[in-house]
Amino acid sequence: MKTKKIIMVELVETNVFSRWHCTVCDGCTNPVSVLAEGKDGKRAIRVCEQCLEAAEIDKRLTAAAHERHAAYLRSLVGRLRVPTYAEWKARIEKVEASRPWRLAGC
Ligand SMILES: [Zn+2]
Repeated sequence: MKTKKIIMVELVETNVFSRWHCTVCDGCTNPVSVLAEGKDGKRAIRVCEQCLEAAEIDKRLTAAAHERHAAYLRSLVGRLRVPTYAEWKARIEKVEASRPWRLAGC
């Protein structure tokens, strides 16, 4: 069943520095302090910074669809409204500037 429900992906600050799975490209984020996250019902949607930078969300969803989650990824085509890479970059610069301890040893 295909839905057209729009999913808002928001920039979310985190203190958990890990590589998170990217729903769009099936790759993963870097351990960054600002993530692009949304919810599709109970499913978490996460968009890595490489996908934000590429700014071709639907194209990347389609390319990854043949490998995993094919039907699910296709159901997301046209529905994700994500922050721009510039918005992510601006936010992470602000967050990193407020966390000087992160600059050492990472
Ligand atoms: Zn990605």
